[in-house]
Amino acid sequence: MITIKILKSAALLTFMAFTSTPAQGQDLLARQAPVDRKMKAVDSIVLNRLIEQEMFENPSGDLYDEWSNNLTHYSGVTLPDEATIDLRGFCMPTESRVVTSNFGARWGRQHKGLDIKVYIGDTIRAAFSGKVRIVKYEPRGYGKYVVIRHHNGLETYYGHMSKQLVRENEEVKAGDPIGLGGNTGRSTGSHLHFETRLCGVALNPALMFDFRNQDVTGDFYTFRRSKYAAESAQATRLRGANAGKNSSRFSSDADDDSELAIAAPSASFAPEVHLHKVKKGETLQSIARKCHTTVDALCKLNRIGKNIRLMPGQILKYN
Ligand SMILES: [Zn+2]
Repeated sequence: MITIKILKSAALLTFMAFTSTPAQGQDLLARQAPVDRKMKAVDSIVLNRLIEQEMFENPSGDLYDEWSNNLTHYSGVTLPDEATIDLRGFCMPTESRVVTSNFGARWGRQHKGLDIKVYIGDTIRAAFSGKVRIVKYEPRGYGKYVVIRHHNGLETYYGHMSKQLVRENEEVKAGDPIGLGGNTGRSTGSHLHFETRLCGVALNPALMFDFRNQDVTGDFYTFRRSKYAAESAQATRLRGANAGKNSSRFSSDADDDSELAIAAPSASFAPEVHLHKVKKGETLQSIARKCHTTVDALCKLNRIGKNIRLMPGQILKYN
């Protein structure tokens, strides 16, 4: 893809080289060798500078053709059927190894990212080098969030932060602090909502990032439309929430897309509400015991009667 840009720069250079020396045009053939050498010298300095300039102004511009500080998600861009993403030079966005919510279908809606347990004030870092596209506050969604476009084509999203530490159009290096962990927006319990998007399409971050092992899944990740669904499901099994041991407890620091999530008006000070996923055989009594609360409190919070028949998979709030 990048070759298109290089060619564009080279074509411009060639044009400049020939038009700026019209007198040499006639004996061009005779002077072919010197011109070639001259072009080579120009090549290495100016061409590199031009490419760098283009990449700085619009990282991965060959994929996006657009740079906006307003559009949170690009919709008019076409995701290629196949694309290889260079994961080298990464930095894990947080040191936390705890995935609390997976990418994909959740509570009847699509969760477009991974939720990672972080505490208010924890440092959140840029996953790759790139340029900050969006720094905004969305009280009913991402909360205080940052979007960065990277040279490898990805855009990464960091949501629910308590503080943003970068500005729009700022260039960042992988590992630079970009914000602090928080609980802003539609969030119950402090956590980082982390998205990886290619051409505006959210891809399962577990395909690329292994938070449990604080590593990427390889030097490269190749997205293939035909294999994506199966690979995404496998990545969640391998690296998602509840993938390892201690999977009996449904951790509930979760967010945004869910109707169950509480919109927090003054996010950092909102009371923490926890969620429990009902398992087969559980009763209100056993859940109350497990969650250190009472049946009465559970009923009141969830607006249910004491004799309700619980269904496995049902979500209950508790404090
Ligand atoms: Zn989330």
